[in-house]
Amino acid sequence: MSEEKSLNFLEEIIENDIAEGKNGGRIHTRFPPEPNGYLHIGHATSICLNFGLAKKYNGQCNLRFDDTNPVTEETEYVESIKNDIKWLGFTWDNELYASDYFEQLYAFAVKLIEKGLAYVDDSTAEEIAATKGSTVAPGTNSPYRDRSIEENLQLFAAMRAGKYKDGEKTLRAKIDMAHPNLLLRDPLMYRIKHAHHHRTGDAWCIYPMYDYAHGQSDSIENITHSICTLEFIHHRPLYNWFIEQLGIFPSHQYEFARRNLTYTVMSKRKLLQLVNEGHVSGWDDPRMPTVSGMRRRGYPAEAIRQFCDTIGIARRENIVDIGMLEFCVREHLNKTANRVMVVLDPVKLVITNYPEGQEDIFDAENNPEMDNGSRKVPFSRELWIEREDFMEEAPKKFFRLAPGNKVRLKSAYIVECTGCAKDADGNITEVHCTYLPESKSGADTSGLSVKGTIHWVSTKHAKTAEVHMYDRLFKVEDPSNEEGDFKSYINPDSMQVLPAAYIEPALASALAGQQYQFMRKGYFCVDKNSTPDKLIFNRTATLKDAWAKESGKR
Ligand code: ATP
Ligand code: MG
Repeated sequence: MSEEKSLNFLEEIIENDIAEGKNGGRIHTRFPPEPNGYLHIGHATSICLNFGLAKKYNGQCNLRFDDTNPVTEETEYVESIKNDIKWLGFTWDNELYASDYFEQLYAFAVKLIEKGLAYVDDSTAEEIAATKGSTVAPGTNSPYRDRSIEENLQLFAAMRAGKYKDGEKTLRAKIDMAHPNLLLRDPLMYRIKHAHHHRTGDAWCIYPMYDYAHGQSDSIENITHSICTLEFIHHRPLYNWFIEQLGIFPSHQYEFARRNLTYTVMSKRKLLQLVNEGHVSGWDDPRMPTVSGMRRRGYPAEAIRQFCDTIGIARRENIVDIGMLEFCVREHLNKTANRVMVVLDPVKLVITNYPEGQEDIFDAENNPEMDNGSRKVPFSRELWIEREDFMEEAPKKFFRLAPGNKVRLKSAYIVECTGCAKDADGNITEVHCTYLPESKSGADTSGLSVKGTIHWVSTKHAKTAEVHMYDRLFKVEDPSNEEGDFKSYINPDSMQVLPAAYIEPALASALAGQQYQFMRKGYFCVDKNSTPDKLIFNRTATLKDAWAKESGKR
């Protein structure tokens, strides 16, 4: 499939560069996360893109932590990011940290001061903002703009030495306060922040701004194609300005549209709110669009990669139907997940002509798509079935259990429903049927064909498990674009807990992370908190897209 796919615009650029012998045909990308949160499906797109391009063109891809902001960054995030990238199936060529370049970035800044291209400004943040001008009006020069090179060098050294308090001084690039692109109106390069950094500790009290640090980090690493999202398009002239003035390796920035998905939010700031305010159980809550959440939900890494590759990348903002991701997940799990029988909403089925104490052990196929053997499923006189598979008064097209109807019990016998028992309030307590011994699965001589097949679990052999029925976290397509707080659009039914579903005994030894198809019910996986004494399953996906039906899509 990928061979036939036409090149995306970045592949076109790269192939062109290779053809022209640019950088000796060398391709070097990087994935530059800020360690201030967990990775989400948008990052996964960027990961597939950067690592994928490097792989396709025999290049390299660096993992660079963009850790220039000491206040929001934590080691926990660094570890989770590395773990998630590995889980997605990628290996970085170098693990690097922008903070390792602090000394080099400082030296670059000194060089710009010496060239008369940077100055120390005593203005407050408010004063700087007030002199920025607007898209229709030029800004005004800072009164400190014409300090001598010597004075700037001295003040910048004093900033580094900790002589000043937070916000007292900044270092700014000296470009043009009337530049049509506001980002080039003497942008900040350094700010003072007396803060502890997760790697450099208290060695620094001045920290470089993103626009100053990013391109220089790319250049230090000889990155050829620096790929970022569209909101940085107006930053590109500044990216180029620093590189040109410093005369360092000319990395080049390219932009693509952020990945947005329906029924979720993607900004780390919003995801952090969901975590901190307890709307979800954590960054890896199975409803979160984070890589760790999707892993815990049971999404296979292959399915996520397939999704990213299928959707490809765009030059313009768009929003992708989350159903596409779920489709990839189902398609993959259909091929890999073993089938098992689990009854979520049980009612007892009694086979009145099956002798008490008798048992059958059936061989049930694990996965018809894989030809990977079978498992033993015990059968007895009393079974659990789904409550919805019986109707006392059923419409004509109801092919499950109703008085007089015949159905096949999956992998076992055909049974004929004979009625039910009720309690004093009229609730059905038991369904009754008789079985046809000659209809045994695999050795069926009954000559009957029935329209319905239902799943079941022998009551005597059943184990119980807690099942978490997950659904979409938001009830509207684009919660960030609705009026008011995005959190008011949280789907109140996004998690339903079934405390005691009946599972077949083969499942008792299921290990965390294992994926199954609960026949007729959906794909499920074993939660990370599951123990042999208390099994917990997460619903990964329904068998079909229930939302598409509802909204009339696809
Ligand atoms: P957020 O806005 O969610 O906080 P971010 O851009 O601040 O994201 P970074 O850690 O800086 O997050 O991102 C690392 C890389 O991942 C960047 O190159 C960024 O462009 C890319 N990236 C982040 N979000 C998306 C997205 N939704 N789609 C595609 N790429 C993304
Ligand atoms: Mg960012």
